[in-house]
Amino acid sequence: MGKKYNPLSIVFLGGVGEIGKNLTAIKYGDEILIVDCGSTFPTLDTPGVDLIVPDFSYLEENKDKIVGLVVTHGHEDHIGGIPFLISKIPNIPIYGSDLTIALIEHKLIDKKVNTAKLNVVKAEDKIKLGNFSVEFVQVAHSIIGAFALAITTPRGIIFHTGDFKIDYTPIGNSKPVDISTFARIGNRGVLLMLGESTNVEKPGTTISEKHVGKTLDKIFMANPDKRIIIATFASNVNRIQQIISIAEKSGRKVAFSGRSMIKICEMALDMGLIKMNRENLVEVEHIKDYPPEQTCILSTGSQGEPMSALTRMANGIDKIKVQDGDLIVISSSAIPGNEKAIYTVINNLYRQGAKVMYGSLEELHVSGHACREELKMMLSLIRPKFFIPVHGEYRHLKQHAKLAQDLGINPDNITIAEIGDEVEIKTKKMQHNEKVKAGALYVDGEGQISHEMVKERRQLSNEGLVVVVCKVNEATKILSDEFIVETRGIDLREGDFEEIKLCMAKSFVQLDLANKPFDKNQFEQIASKKVANRLAKLTTQKPLVVPVVILDGDLAIYE
Ligand SMILES: [Zn+2]
Ligand SMILES: [Zn+2]
Repeated sequence: MGKKYNPLSIVFLGGVGEIGKNLTAIKYGDEILIVDCGSTFPTLDTPGVDLIVPDFSYLEENKDKIVGLVVTHGHEDHIGGIPFLISKIPNIPIYGSDLTIALIEHKLIDKKVNTAKLNVVKAEDKIKLGNFSVEFVQVAHSIIGAFALAITTPRGIIFHTGDFKIDYTPIGNSKPVDISTFARIGNRGVLLMLGESTNVEKPGTTISEKHVGKTLDKIFMANPDKRIIIATFASNVNRIQQIISIAEKSGRKVAFSGRSMIKICEMALDMGLIKMNRENLVEVEHIKDYPPEQTCILSTGSQGEPMSALTRMANGIDKIKVQDGDLIVISSSAIPGNEKAIYTVINNLYRQGAKVMYGSLEELHVSGHACREELKMMLSLIRPKFFIPVHGEYRHLKQHAKLAQDLGINPDNITIAEIGDEVEIKTKKMQHNEKVKAGALYVDGEGQISHEMVKERRQLSNEGLVVVVCKVNEATKILSDEFIVETRGIDLREGDFEEIKLCMAKSFVQLDLANKPFDKNQFEQIASKKVANRLAKLTTQKPLVVPVVILDGDLAIYE
């Protein structure tokens, strides 16, 4: 007699069809294991939004089933949503590496939701969460303490690569990539692999982090007479370690600039993840007390983020005043979509008299994500029965699926998932079940705002605003022919005002008030639509139209 097995499925709540806000739920019977819970940065499409996190409805509906949250690493697209999840579902036990947990803890304290139970795990640790047993496997990535996950379920092993690259010569605390562990897991027989797809379009292999150190070393050697300011990702502790070592070697004092740089570096120093002579560390306020050629400043802002230290320097409003002869090095590549912001910062730094080295210089930055040959190696070592590509836009997922097929995985055993998909892993096949509620939540300041409001903001910024104020006498059911029309961001011609009046009058007639009282909300709805449609035809713009009805009794307030 065989054992009775429960169904096993993967619910994709974020991170597929996009690079950002990763959130995956693995469901076995009545238990759910969550992998990662990230956020995405807003775009021009979401004006005024500070952060985008996944819609947690599915997890809220199933909160009693959640056995834990395992986190692959501390990048925002994997941890940024955690405070918002914990504010809705407190007490979820969370597991991650020392740095990951320290970063999460900081976030939870910041948002005043520190109710979750945080647990530090090490590479090769195995933990049991309900029917799931999770083994943490060290991988190389652009942050230390990054894991792949081997999750054993009663139905078989699920291997989640997390974000990874294969680096044979890593820096500092990182051990070389443990290929034998991947092979060992592959030999146990893997039911399903979830594989990251970010760099599937890039041939070959990623360059080792060590090369960046060599490039930076040359830059320091060639510029002994200059103050050097380097912008990079605050979470790239290995990169920061390399820069600090080179700065110390060339007799420079080091200062951290920018909130997240100071926060993460202090954390990493305390945890022993960054090693330096503390006497060489100077507060950013005091770095000007040293001769420029004896200083090095590590700064945030390598993506041109509006409030970052480097952007403030470029605009001349930072504690650090850029001066003639400064050398500024941007040690990162632009995340697609950030190019314009970065070039604006670079232009402004040049205006301040600095020399800037950035992207075009080879090996000033290396990616943290596996290129095609590394993806092939991972698939060949793990040899899963089923494969679902993750962590990529649709084209990345499609190409990764094709790559897996080329490597001999049965095409029927490969599928592409989108946000809201529940894929059930059956014995012989995978099956897409009915979609679950999923999507995005928009965070503005401390609060959450609706999709409707974001749509309105987009419309306001792209198309402008038309406010039509009119008077209605409720008793006589008469619409006055006096109107006030105010516009912002749209120019109306004389004739357009007449058209607006006409639409308002038609909307009023449409209410058919012969046998019922005047309904202000209904009128505003009808009028808004009618005027907007008319203006779209007249002006080719689609402004947000806001009718404001003043009832005769309210006139005192209005006048
Ligand atoms: Zn990452
Ligand atoms: Zn990621």
